[in-house]
Amino acid sequence: MKKISILIPAYNEEDVLEKLYARLDQVLDQLHQYDTEILFINDGSKDKTLEIIKTLQRKDSRISYVDLSRNYGKEIAMIAGLDYSTGDAVVIIDADLQDPPELIPQMVRCWESGYDDVYAKRRNRLGETWVKKYTSSTFYKMLKKLSRIPIQEDTGDFRLLDRRCVEALKQLRETQRYTKGMFSWIGFNKKEILFDRDPRAAGQTKWNYLKLLDLAIEGITSFTTIPLRFSSLLGSLISLFAFVYMMVIIVKTIAYGERVQGYPSLMVIILFLGGIQLLSLGIIGEYIGRIFNETKRRPLYFVDEYNGRKI
Ligand code: UDP
Ligand code: MG
Repeated sequence: MKKISILIPAYNEEDVLEKLYARLDQVLDQLHQYDTEILFINDGSKDKTLEIIKTLQRKDSRISYVDLSRNYGKEIAMIAGLDYSTGDAVVIIDADLQDPPELIPQMVRCWESGYDDVYAKRRNRLGETWVKKYTSSTFYKMLKKLSRIPIQEDTGDFRLLDRRCVEALKQLRETQRYTKGMFSWIGFNKKEILFDRDPRAAGQTKWNYLKLLDLAIEGITSFTTIPLRFSSLLGSLISLFAFVYMMVIIVKTIAYGERVQGYPSLMVIILFLGGIQLLSLGIIGEYIGRIFNETKRRPLYFVDEYNGRKI
């Protein structure tokens, strides 16, 4: 019998877990021809999430959980889940019911017909402000242009991955993870299915704009070095202008002499060049920061317990 793992990263989700379980349970009834595993990753929740998972596990032997030693963030929670999942296919789903579990049987059918990565694309984004929609769409446009991998827009982490994809993702052990890009990067047979994303069932989103900006920079710097090239191009262009201008000044001075003046132009040039230099340094710094973090070669996470067993 083939086995399907449902991977659920959960951070302070006490309000929704029971609702989520009830809906998953119904959906999994339709998949009775498969073995199933519901794998919760408790990402260092500070509320009753872990207790609720443990209570659910007592009732239902399909449930397993990994309890991380602290809050590592969703990206790390996901790779922990992939490491511990045992299914032939793994479905990653948010705990807050924004990803409807009812889509899973359809994903499984696509998987059975030969696709390795069946991802759910949002048709709309209910419950999100237009600012969030706009910023997210501009970001994807930019990222797609910059990096040469086709990154799927309006797609979250809600997807079914074949074991092959899971094994591939498990080999990408970078600490600063941008999983969404990795799904595209590993390739394999992809299939998109459309769905309407619901607003969060309960509780609060853990994202704020600062974190989203962080994720955006993460996405760009982990998948393309174009900003570095951009800063060298800008540098060369400005040097060229500077050189031409220097010639103009030299020639002018020789021909007409120089009555000292020119405070405004000096000031403008100094400020402008200083700005460009700081910008370029910042870009280089981003990448050095990444190198710094990756060279430490730390494990991605530590597990406190796996199904009640201390690790
Ligand atoms: N999550 C997590 N660790 C975190 C933050 C979030 O495991 O540090 C989980 C969270 O429990 C949920 C999923 O990641 O299952 C998506 O989080 P959220 O709903 O806050 O993000 P949004 O839907 O707003 O993008
Ligand atoms: Mg959510």
